[in-house]
Parts: sequence; C-alpha cells; structure tokens
Amino acid sequence: GRKFFVGGNWKCNGTAEEVKKIVTTLNEAKVPGEDVVEVVVSPPFVFLPVVKGLLRPDFHVSAQNCWVRKGGAYTGEVSAEMLVNLGIPWVIIGHSERRQLLQESNEFVGDKVAYALSQGLKVIACIGETLEQREAGTTMTVVAEQTKAIADKISNWDNVVLAYEPVWAIGTGKVATPAQAQEVHADLRKWIHSNVSAEVAASVRIIYGGLSIVLVLGGSVNGGNCKELAAQPDVDGFLVGGASLKPEFVDIINSAT
Ligand code: 13P
Repeated sequence: GRKFFVGGNWKCNGTAEEVKKIVTTLNEAKVPGEDVVEVVVSPPFVFLPVVKGLLRPDFHVSAQNCWVRKGGAYTGEVSAEMLVNLGIPWVIIGHSERRQLLQESNEFVGDKVAYALSQGLKVIACIGETLEQREAGTTMTVVAEQTKAIADKISNWDNVVLAYEPVWAIGTGKVATPAQAQEVHADLRKWIHSNVSAEVAASVRIIYGGLSIVLVLGGSVNGGNCKELAAQPDVDGFLVGGASLKPEFVDIINSAT
C-alpha cells in the first residue's frame, strides 16, 4: 500500500519566534506513527536548520525549491547539494506559485526534479490546472503535460510524491470536491500506467493540495471534508498551505486514519 503523506508548505511565512511555536505545537501533537503517515514540513530556506534541529524525529523537513543544476554562480539560489549537505531529505519542486509568478516552465521543472533526485533528495513535484484551464475542459491535458515533462527526465519514481494542486483551490477558499479530486488523481494514475509503468502507477503517491482557507474558516476537518478527501482511493495525502501554520495541521495529519 501507499503510505499516507501529509506535507506542510509554509510558503514565505513566519518569524523565528513563530517558527519555534509551530514546531513546539507539532512536537506535542498526538498523531499516528510513521508507519501510518509520513509527515514533512517545509519552512523557508532560512529556517530549515533551526526547524530540523528542533523537530521531533518522526517528522521530516523539506525545502520549497532548489536550483536546477549543480551550484555555482547563481546569485540567490540554493543548490540540491547544499540541502543534502545539511541533511534536508525533501524538496518541493514546481509549485504553482513558482510556475506562475516566476515563469517556471514544465521543462525547467522536469530538469529540476531530475537533478534533485540525482543528488539523493526526495521530491514533492507539484502539478495542477488554473481556473481557465479547468473551465476550458483541459485539466487532464494540462496535468498530463506537466507530468510528462517530469517523466521524460526521470526513470526512477521511488523518491517522488506527486502533488495535485488545482490552482483555483490554492488559498482561495475553494476546495475540489472529493469526487473532483478523485477523478483527476485516478486519471493521473491511469496516465502513469500507460506512459510510465504499471508498477509506478500502483506505487506513486498522489497527494492533494488546496484546502487551507476552508479548513481555517469552516473547520472542514471536523466537517468531514478532509476525511472524505483522504478516503478517496487515489488520494494518498495532502500538501497543506495556510493551515500548516496552524494547529489544524495536526487534525489533517490525523485524517490519515
Ligand atoms: P492552501 O492549503 O493554503 O490552499 O495551499 C495549498 C498549497 O499551495 C500547498 O502547497
């Protein structure tokens, strides 16, 4: 089976004091063991060492990005080698905010995923359609192209988690219905079956992202939204934005069971 995965993407948020508070909350939380749910939190680069140092050993850390190739004269960038050197096991690649605001192309994202994997990092690779694309009926074309750009560059998917994050559901208060999420996850798994392999299709975890605001405003964890999403056969976890900075994140981790 595919182990449930809950990632917390802190994005560009937090002060040193706030980060310590969040870690304290996580460290005190009662959650199922690592054998049931894999928990990974992703602070901004500058907080990675402190979070790694303070965080309970059954939770892990991730960077939110890394440079596309070997480090060097690339002002402002952080290389995969540096993350490995610091013992950071995970990196998020291709988040929609970077695709949209920083013009990261499918090909660039594919190259980054391949390079990060080659250095020994585990990758949370993000894909997802915009509202215009969904309304135009091109959701599957878009996510297949994004996935193909990654598949073209890698041969081993063992260290990849695919995060399906519909852009229209990120930080907007809109959340895909369990049926909408399941449909895309299942179609993606079919695409992987046909275009990568049956083994990878069966084993790769496809997690859903884009539910925070609803959770924060409406307490949809208790309302069953998160549980219902988690219960979909092809939803193997979540990549959580806004709510990962709040105690609600613990409820989301607990939706694994
Ligand atoms: P929200 O959970 O804030 O909607 O963000 C999702 C996301 O972008 C996680 O990477």
